[in-house]
Amino acid sequence: MNGKNAIPFLDLVTPHRELAPELTEVFARALNTAGFIGGPMLEQFENAFAEFCEAKYCVGVSSGTDALRFALMAAGVKFGDIVITVPNTFIATTEAISQAGAEPRFVDIDERTYNMDPVQVRKYVTECCTFDSRMELLIDNRTGKPVTAIVPVHLYGQMADMDELLEIAQQYNLSLVEDACQAHGAQYFSRKENRWCTAGSMGIAAAFSFYPGKNLGACGEAGAITTDDETLARKMRMLRDHGQAKKYYHDMEGYNGRLDSIQAGLLHVKLKHLASWNQSRQERARKYNELLSAVSADIKAPFEPSWSRAIYHLYVIQVENREAVQAALAKENIGTGIHYPIPLHLQKAYANQGYRAGDFPVAEKAAERILSLPMFPTLSEADQLRVVETLIRIVLESAPQRAAAAAD
Ligand SMILES: *Cc1c(COP(=O)(O)O)cnc(C)c1O
Repeated sequence: MNGKNAIPFLDLVTPHRELAPELTEVFARALNTAGFIGGPMLEQFENAFAEFCEAKYCVGVSSGTDALRFALMAAGVKFGDIVITVPNTFIATTEAISQAGAEPRFVDIDERTYNMDPVQVRKYVTECCTFDSRMELLIDNRTGKPVTAIVPVHLYGQMADMDELLEIAQQYNLSLVEDACQAHGAQYFSRKENRWCTAGSMGIAAAFSFYPGKNLGACGEAGAITTDDETLARKMRMLRDHGQAKKYYHDMEGYNGRLDSIQAGLLHVKLKHLASWNQSRQERARKYNELLSAVSADIKAPFEPSWSRAIYHLYVIQVENREAVQAALAKENIGTGIHYPIPLHLQKAYANQGYRAGDFPVAEKAAERILSLPMFPTLSEADQLRVVETLIRIVLESAPQRAAAAAD
């Protein structure tokens, strides 16, 4: 350790300290009424978050994982179905698909945005499936199973190419559920609608996580689903609450997957700051881009297409020798992360699915090179400068070794 202050990967303490009076007031209110489940705090937050996402309905649930599972189940995904998604995401995406009774089918990503590549989706749908136009059902040729949904992940806070994906979904009768767990407030310019659309307003439903480290985080576990479809919203409300719309009248089996009123109250306080926090992240991303532009051959900065307004849940670069660079940064007291080191198709959990290394080369190559730099709204400019100066020094110092290794 040297004498320099530590630059954390993420600072969760400062914003909570700043909002402490308002946040503790939420606890006081809940204690006074003992309103811990349901009630006005929950409904007020749901309405405010629906409005923030430009969606008609919001259903608060206990986590992002539950949000995805309930959204898929409400959309009609059932046992034996196949759901298309990407391999470079947090395992919750595929856990939710499996828990809904379906099987994940991966497609590779776009190498510049790290998001689902519509070309690869079309390739899978046309080369590996048959569309039964009488039944309006897409069938996976190898397994004979119906492909009923598609889950693009708006990774790192940047939306997937939704126009293309929605077109495929419509053409093949797939329910498109957005995994917006990292994308609270991200926007996409729809060429079709000729306007900016917000994450959570484009799919048939969208899942959000309020895990503490997300751009909008609870003080514990929480999540939400947004949708414009009233029937879907009603189904999801029942799924989160033991299959009941009226107490003790169970139309089906559901889950215990509600959002606590206290968490909803805390989230409502923090939601008022989300737009400005996102803006601060965007400013820091621009600063990183500017500082890294001189070394673009050695350090690849994130790519933001003109149709995207990313909210930088993470700021992810690519470097060679990633492990060495990360270790050298850690020695300089600079925190980083890797999101994610092993693509899902190569995880032990999916070893029985028959996937092999080489199946999704773009995702696999990215997984070896990506590195998430410190990114949070209160990251100071001085700290950002130190991150970049240190990073550039480390990367350039390791360049001769790279050249030597290549010559071997
Ligand atoms: C965080 C996250 C989830 C899961 O959310 P939880 O609230 O932790 O259950 C799902 N998908 C993605 C992409 C995430 O980042």
